[in-house]
Amino acid sequence: MKPILLQNTLGNKKEEFVPRKDGVVTMYNCGPTVYHYAHIGNLRAYVFADVLKRMFAYNSYDIKQVINITDVGHLTSDADEGEDKIESGAKREGVKVKKIIKQYTDAFMDDMQKLNINIDEIDFPRATENIPEQIVFIQTLDEKGYTYKTSDGIYFDTSLRDDYGKLGNINTKGLEEGARVEKNKEKKNPTDFALWKFSKPEEQRQQEWDSPWGVGFPGWHIECSAMSRKLLGNQIDVHTGGVDHIPVHHNNEIAQTESVTGKQFVNYWMHNEFITVDGQKIAKSVGNTVFLKNVIDKGFSPLSLRYWFLTAHYRTQSNFTWEALEGAQTALFKLHKHFVEEYGAKDGEVNKEYKNRFHEFINDDLDTPKAIALIWDLTKDEGIPKEDKRSTLLEFDKVLGLGLDHSNKKLVDLLSGRGEKLELGKLPKTIKVLVDEREKARKSKDFEKADKLRDKLKEKGYEIEDKEDGPEVSVL
Ligand code: AMP
Ligand code: ZN
Repeated sequence: MKPILLQNTLGNKKEEFVPRKDGVVTMYNCGPTVYHYAHIGNLRAYVFADVLKRMFAYNSYDIKQVINITDVGHLTSDADEGEDKIESGAKREGVKVKKIIKQYTDAFMDDMQKLNINIDEIDFPRATENIPEQIVFIQTLDEKGYTYKTSDGIYFDTSLRDDYGKLGNINTKGLEEGARVEKNKEKKNPTDFALWKFSKPEEQRQQEWDSPWGVGFPGWHIECSAMSRKLLGNQIDVHTGGVDHIPVHHNNEIAQTESVTGKQFVNYWMHNEFITVDGQKIAKSVGNTVFLKNVIDKGFSPLSLRYWFLTAHYRTQSNFTWEALEGAQTALFKLHKHFVEEYGAKDGEVNKEYKNRFHEFINDDLDTPKAIALIWDLTKDEGIPKEDKRSTLLEFDKVLGLGLDHSNKKLVDLLSGRGEKLELGKLPKTIKVLVDEREKARKSKDFEKADKLRDKLKEKGYEIEDKEDGPEVSVL
């Protein structure tokens, strides 16, 4: 067994993974709030979780994986104020809440599958389908004396936990409630958070439930504590989310669960860094939101987005540009092309040396950039028979999930088939020289030379097509 090293946000160091139970990993990934499509930043969080899961499987673990679907209670401000995102999503689109939830949950599942994530292996509990469990959880906190009531809900008193804020070493003493949020004067401490919120009479919510404290709805954090406990038990191995969840959401989950169970909730907390677009935080107000749908509409394969994600380490902030995605698609196209057109259909041997190096990289806190670089070392290695390359790549792809196991001519064509044509003026100089040279050869009927130049362009990732009014160039 090779050791697995994971960067643990709890304690902020790389640690060797030791499962709670031999051969089994329990993992909870904070899931989407289904009031809108998931943007590419959100999708990074789930591709990260998927690669993590595949890495555990590669190390022969059985994995129990849970991703919650937040369909109530997540307010527009994480500080328990503002509108419920789901209710405001329904208002925005002038439809019933149930319709919003269904539409965006379906879209999420669809995105996941397009990114080569096997949803059949994952449990997706919904907050609205686990209301009694959440109420019981709050009742237990109540009995243990951790709660208090205000005019708008039942709150958790964070001052009763000496270790509150331990994840990411949040300095709770210096913490002020978000500057933009009006202070809730009834809260005893700025870090206290809602467990149950009362429906406001003027609000006319579509989703609300009876509870021992009054009609209302659960706070956002309690669903994760209640549903992870129900499906995975009091203590779990791994819990993930984006870095934005460290200060508030995940510290609150810890406070709730550990107050109920008296035991350490999670052994390994792992967090992915953010994706930015045009160097800025993805935000509606900036107008830079990119969805998977946009990626596909521009002629890219979702697998190219997955490849692009993996070229950066999950703990590195990564800036999305269409040029970067173009580069990822060109690389992935080349990989599939090698695989389908050169390496044949016959299985060979998995090369031990490459397999070892690959295994070390992914066990080292998911070093996917190194694993990707290794792919290219392998393809270039002339000492390895083609069928062995094929089998070794398939081995790598068990973790990377770049679709090689279902690669075929059609997928290669899809990857090459970026609809968008490039204007000759916008081509890099070196490419333009080749295109012009080829056009000259063609005009003087030197077709052999023209074909050679076409091949050369192809090697560089450009496809040329002759049209009546001249050559048309597209990126492969
Ligand atoms: P939400 O639907 O807002 O609860 O977010 C779903 C997941 O996406 C959470 O794990 C977030 O931490 C994560 N996330 C949100 N924005 C980004 C981003 N720009 N880059 C990476 N992860 C993100
Ligand atoms: Zn959560």
